[in-house]
Amino acid sequence: MPSKPRATEPYEMATPTDNSAGITLATPLDEATAQRISKKQWSGLEALGIATVGDLISHYPRRYEDRREFGVMPTGPSEVAVCLKMEVVDTRVRRLGGKRTIFEAVVDQPDGGSALGGTLVLRWFNLPFMSKVLAVGHELVVYGKTKQSGQRLVMDHPDIEIIDPDDPVAARIHLDRITPVYPLASGINQRRMRTLMFEILEQITDDVLPDLLVPTPDWAKALKIWRARALRQVHFPDTDESLLESRRYLALEEFVALQLNVLQRRAEYEKKGGVARPSEGFLLKDLLNSLPFQLTGAQLRCVDEIRSDLISNRPMNRLLQGDVGSGKTLVALSGMLLAVEAGYQAALMAPTQILAEQHFLGIQRLLEPLDIRVSLRTGSKHEDGFLPLMAGGEPQIIIGTHALIHDKVEFENLGFVVIDEQHKFGVSQRSKLIAQGHVPDVLVMTATPIPRTLTLSIYGDLDVSIIDELPAGRGKIVTGIRGIDKTEKAAAFIRDQLEENRQAYIVYPLIEESEKVKSLAASVEFDKWNKRFEHFECGLIHGRMPPLEKEQVMKDFRDGKLDVLVATTVIEVGVDVPNANVMLIYNAERFGLAQLHQLRGRIGRGEHKSYCVLMVDPKNSEAMEKLRVMEETTDGFKIADADLRMRGPGEVLGTAQSGLPDLKLGDLVTDTDLVKEAREIAAEILRNDPQLKQPNHQTLAARFGGGRAGGQLS
Ligand code: ADP
Ligand code: MG
Repeated sequence: MPSKPRATEPYEMATPTDNSAGITLATPLDEATAQRISKKQWSGLEALGIATVGDLISHYPRRYEDRREFGVMPTGPSEVAVCLKMEVVDTRVRRLGGKRTIFEAVVDQPDGGSALGGTLVLRWFNLPFMSKVLAVGHELVVYGKTKQSGQRLVMDHPDIEIIDPDDPVAARIHLDRITPVYPLASGINQRRMRTLMFEILEQITDDVLPDLLVPTPDWAKALKIWRARALRQVHFPDTDESLLESRRYLALEEFVALQLNVLQRRAEYEKKGGVARPSEGFLLKDLLNSLPFQLTGAQLRCVDEIRSDLISNRPMNRLLQGDVGSGKTLVALSGMLLAVEAGYQAALMAPTQILAEQHFLGIQRLLEPLDIRVSLRTGSKHEDGFLPLMAGGEPQIIIGTHALIHDKVEFENLGFVVIDEQHKFGVSQRSKLIAQGHVPDVLVMTATPIPRTLTLSIYGDLDVSIIDELPAGRGKIVTGIRGIDKTEKAAAFIRDQLEENRQAYIVYPLIEESEKVKSLAASVEFDKWNKRFEHFECGLIHGRMPPLEKEQVMKDFRDGKLDVLVATTVIEVGVDVPNANVMLIYNAERFGLAQLHQLRGRIGRGEHKSYCVLMVDPKNSEAMEKLRVMEETTDGFKIADADLRMRGPGEVLGTAQSGLPDLKLGDLVTDTDLVKEAREIAAEILRNDPQLKQPNHQTLAARFGGGRAGGQLS
């Protein structure tokens, strides 16, 4: 990009030294600004959660535009957004029929037109009021991506800002600099937000923005900037470097605040004193001897880690991470047996009824020879009186769904709690179950493997055990992406596998639809598959079937009475039928990678080679690209990492994951070095000031609700 000589130096923000106005972070915004804030603007600010000076300055830009030098107008489609200075030369509204309209503004580079002679057309669909906003002669800052539309180069719904030539001073807040672009709400526009921000930052003195991180010599090097400067620079950076430094400083501060909370919570439950639950491990030995296979080294290591937690009188708070099929259930069961032998009850809570039942059946079968009383509590079973009364006393192992907390299950002596697929539960559900015991040892399990730095941020108060090895003898899973127009071909392939006595899943995961619509879609498709495979037995399973019916279908599939299972995502988690080796997933493009990985984890559980076919709209090449990583790897860590980068942790880890901190600047996925640094800094702060008595530490910890009494996993 050719660089033009700069007309003016950036308008430097004054750093005031006189705070005679007495402005603090708590000062209401209207008392701190000389400009009137209209009612409409207030409502916009309110929607953004901004009422005080402090609220405003922690409303960070969502991006920046480098308006020191504008780009040259592209002559073709642009890969990344460009920032241009343009002049409106023509406008028109075109009607498309009905109420649909396009407003078009033809723009050209100012000062004599673009060197290359072309013009650019800005388009807004169905926003007729744009014709009142833009007029010929307006000078604009335009931000967006160009694309080709017929002979014309267009930009659809660009961000624009009209330059006001009558206000040269204010203009220099908006131009000739790295310009912040803020998240907005209806009522307040970009220029207003920016001038307000600028004015406030010019009002407050540095002493209102003291450093919260008071560096010790060990980590002073991490901070190249101090807080007051970082806050000014993050809004109105002088240079690219100072922007980077300030963002880094503020993100680090945020991560330290988070880690202070996490570490404090951990210190609190460690202090609380748990119960030592020692055992010889006889039951465990019996179980392991009865298995037709050996535990993997990774499983054994995890069992050992759980065992030392049980023996010690420190309460266990442990996360068990392992890819799908890594054998988490057996590790959990081992822990439960150790607790039972020590004289305690153990409970396992699973997110779905199908899964709870499967755990129950499997565990009951394994424990039969050991003479251990296992019971199942799911809402329906309980009501139906299906549950046989246990002869010989209270159950020692109780397996269930949410019914474990809602149905007033009475535990005699609950000492060990396992939560399977924990991301499907909310924090309060977990703590309710935990509260049923007297400081029980807690194991939470997750099949979405996440990078260590993310674990530190979300589960930093837990100890972590990782099963990083799959049992030997698993068949390979081959994954392919196909267009939905290839359904008949896929059916032929499945037929071949069925002839070999294998079983298949056909999944219709219409995520956005209601359970009702989902179930309906699966039913309609079921009829078609039934016809396609008339010589085989097909079953249907979806969320709206009565529980007993669902269970029967699942049982028939497990027992091999059904060859094909047409399903919604009810089978997503945990289902374990090793003979099933084919899975067809429709609408695959509408899923996150982590979820597809979970679904795919239903196959590849036996010795046979398995096949996963992702059926997508063949016209949607972007979707096909996104799914490519599924073809390339079956490593859950790699897939989760790709997914986290694409969709962010909130989406990947699920909405029930209310443990996700609300970070303003820090990025849980990409800021890995900052997370590690913050962990060390927070640990050091707590070593020197364990009660967080210093005001700056209190302020930091309060940012994530710190200071409150923590509990296990609360
Ligand atoms: P996940 O970690 O996905 O919850 P499961 O606990 O359901 O996995 O285990 C998957 C399957 O692997 C089960 O059928 C289980 O019996 C089997 N399995 C577990 N551990 C081993 C092992 N060490 N060797 C062979 N098979 C195992
Ligand atoms: Mg499982």
